[in-house]
Amino acid sequence: MFIDSHCHLDAPEFDTDRDDVVARARSAGITQMVVPAITVATFEKTRAMRERYGTALAFGLHPIYIAEHRDEHIGVLSDWLAREQPVAVGEIGLDFFVPELDADRQITLFEAQLKLARDFDLPVIVHIRRSQDQVLKYLRKWQVKGGIAHAFNGSRQQADEFIKLGFKLGFGGAMTYSGSQRIRKLATELPLEAIVLETDAPDIAPSWLDQPGQPRGRNEPFELARIAQVLAELRGCDLPTIATQTTANALSVLPGLPSTAQANTPRS
Ligand SMILES: [Zn+2]
Repeated sequence: MFIDSHCHLDAPEFDTDRDDVVARARSAGITQMVVPAITVATFEKTRAMRERYGTALAFGLHPIYIAEHRDEHIGVLSDWLAREQPVAVGEIGLDFFVPELDADRQITLFEAQLKLARDFDLPVIVHIRRSQDQVLKYLRKWQVKGGIAHAFNGSRQQADEFIKLGFKLGFGGAMTYSGSQRIRKLATELPLEAIVLETDAPDIAPSWLDQPGQPRGRNEPFELARIAQVLAELRGCDLPTIATQTTANALSVLPGLPSTAQANTPRS
């Protein structure tokens, strides 16, 4: 059994065949998924994923969508955190890869959300593209209770700093490319207790969906089992070991996470 600790099942890319996507994931042993929201406009649809499929939820204001976030959305987020029992605050963080994203505004919103995470005693799911050290700085300042460093792509030293703060590191499709040497080395050498698996579906397609001359394929939670197989090969261990340990890691870092998806039974 596997947990996809980060997938955007609510994304429009899945609107035409979402039931099939979830059925394929279950057939591959993905027993649970965490669906992090990205803007207040997506909160309701994210919640609907739990209603229909029993997925776990996180709510947050994603740094890439900074132009859509308003100051009052922090209050809206607070209401949703209070009412909906998410497993984390996320997806939040800092993105210093895209130069158009106002850095000061990102930091303001990130700090406001770290404060909420502390107030609600929730872990966080953080986006850390080109921003590992700055994210670490604010995590230390607000002393949140840990969480997941999503799509980890930093140095070993930065990995160790996250681990010290009670974080697990998310690994997914990027690890399947033979050219991603730094990520593959980290996935091989970090303690297995520090790793959670994630697809970030529909993004970060694994290498086998990325054919030369073709647009990059849509990633989906089903691929997590094969991504886990890559991790097993890199580490020279068997797949059940990867499944058992990464599942235990996700459950320990997200204490509110039910180990299997349980959709609400339809009212009769
Ligand atoms: Zn994401």
